[in-house]
Amino acid sequence: MILKCDVLIIGAGPAGASLTFYLAEEGIGTILIDKKSEIDTPLRCAEYVPAAIGRLFGGPISGISCTTVSMDTYIDYEYANTIPSPGFILDRPVFLKSLIDSFTESGGKFLPGTKALSFDDGNGGGRKPGSGKPDIQQKDRQNNGPGMVTTTVQGAGGKRSTVKSRIVVGTDGPNSIVGKYIGSTNSTYILGLGENIPVEAKDKKKTLIFFSPGIEGGYGSLYPKAGTTNHGIGCQLALKEKN
Ligand SMILES: Cc1cc2nc3c(=O)[nH]c(=O)nc-3n(C[C@H](O)[C@H](O)[C@H](O)COP(=O)(O)OP(=O)(O)OC[C@H]3O[C@@H](n4cnc5c(N)ncnc54)[C@H](O)[C@@H]3O)c2cc1C
Repeated sequence: MILKCDVLIIGAGPAGASLTFYLAEEGIGTILIDKKSEIDTPLRCAEYVPAAIGRLFGGPISGISCTTVSMDTYIDYEYANTIPSPGFILDRPVFLKSLIDSFTESGGKFLPGTKALSFDDGNGGGRKPGSGKPDIQQKDRQNNGPGMVTTTVQGAGGKRSTVKSRIVVGTDGPNSIVGKYIGSTNSTYILGLGENIPVEAKDKKKTLIFFSPGIEGGYGSLYPKAGTTNHGIGCQLALKEKN
């Protein structure tokens, strides 16, 4: 099967889902794909966003679980300070789904469970990402203008299709296949884990942050939600292993 569009967005996380919101407003023919079959699942995020986020989307947003006003910081398990931090703890999959729903309602196409495998800008014969050959923009410049990019994708049951688009947007996270194709890869990572545990916080108006020598190069967090608490931890593995 061959699909055609102006813009192919690879990755339906916050970046890709937000972009669909703006492209749908402009009426640009867009296809959004994500290798996950269920949006943002499993979730790896503490789900806090500043209250000002509504300004980005022109009004109230969906998926708000809790409204917070401040953040308490603990250093080595001792209370250190409280700062104002008005914001929301989201049910992030609900928030992203609402953005994607309004995108599809305005004619956009969303293909969950669809993974981008490789790209061909018409000059490289379907080379594999990360081959070190010239990136899409360099080739476009050589060809005096943007051409079509063919992306091979794999959907449910391993079925392969091609998507032809003028633009490919890589919002596919820290191990971006699009990033590899254009020679831009991440070299350092922080390990981040988060889980919603069914214990409700006593004070749902504040988030708690913990710094400690045991969490090197990172922090722990307890974020209140309706009916649960989001427990998270992030640390630099390289530092941890070194010491
Ligand atoms: C433990 C933890 C806590 C965090 N807490 C917060 C917080 O409280 N507030 C906050 O703002 N940020 C937080 N973050 C950071 C936040 O989660 C990220 O910044 C955010 O998810 C990045 O969004 P993204 O859309 O760029 O990428 P991602 O959320 O990583 O989304 C990328 C998407 O691309 C898809 N994808 C990848 N490869 C392919 C492919 N080849 N084909 C198709 N699809 C593909 C993935 O399935 C994924 O859905 C936290 C992160 C962690 C790990």
